[in-house]
Amino acid sequence: MEKALTKDLRVVVIRTGIQISIEKDKADKVDEVLESITTHHKFMKIEGRSVNTADLVGVFEPIDLEELSRRKRGEWQDENGNWIGKGEYKCSTCGNIIPIGKRCGFCG
Ligand SMILES: [Zn+2]
Repeated sequence: MEKALTKDLRVVVIRTGIQISIEKDKADKVDEVLESITTHHKFMKIEGRSVNTADLVGVFEPIDLEELSRRKRGEWQDENGNWIGKGEYKCSTCGNIIPIGKRCGFCG
């Protein structure tokens, strides 16, 4: 059985909200171009798209954007990095996740 290739991806984010996933090697090239830019308006090709470099927010790890979209949905992280849904809270005594407005089933 073939093992699925896990690509090391980065995400280029553009001010309009467009996100382009690219492999790390290509992302490094984008970084090089961005670092070499001396004017504010320059177009570069990223995966066949023509992007105005002035509109680039940056190059991010996929996890950054996943966390961002979770936060936009109202989810939050506890001290251990576990995601808690919007409308839920953690019992301060036992750590049970409970819908807001309900009492902990374990602690009463
Ligand atoms: Zn509890």
